Amino acid sequence: VEYKEQDLNAIIKGIIPLISTDAMEQGIELKINLAEELPHLLLNEKEIKQLLLNLTRNGIEAMSQHGTLTIETIVEGNTVSLCVDDCGCGICKENREKIFDPFFTTKENGTGLGLSVCAGIVRRHNGIIEVESKKDKGTRFIITFNAKTE
Ligand code: ADP
Ligand code: MG
Repeated sequence: VEYKEQDLNAIIKGIIPLISTDAMEQGIELKINLAEELPHLLLNEKEIKQLLLNLTRNGIEAMSQHGTLTIETIVEGNTVSLCVDDCGCGICKENREKIFDPFFTTKENGTGLGLSVCAGIVRRHNGIIEVESKKDKGTRFIITFNAKTE
């Protein structure tokens, strides 16, 4: 896989049409909140799009037919975070420890592969993936990348 210096916001903008179609079909409102002037990161565009699709599809699936899905980028010092938030069913503490395991699913027709793929993508980008969740309140996935230091 090839990693090139590029703008995370531009990659997000490129996949928004697909995500917004997914959201609209499910009656979900999509909010995009991108930080200005992100430092360029070493990224693989296809992998980042896959990461976003997996996270946003889970978020949409967690909110049955109403709610808001938010995609955000945040710059903090030398790091850039990509956050995907939903106000869906949440993930209980017990399941939070298993969601990145391949084939772990709580869905009737789930593959349980989406988040394990995400974990691999984040690992190859030398980033970290974290989850904050409250039962019946919602879930926030936070992916943090390191910007290049000169
Ligand atoms: P799948 O979507 O096929 O079940 P994933 O690997 O994408 O597989 O997700 C694994 C499990 O993690 C899901 O079955 C669900 O229990 C939980 N999960 C993931 N994202 C969310 C979310 N945004 N809200 C609630 N639960 C989630
Ligand atoms: Mg999934």
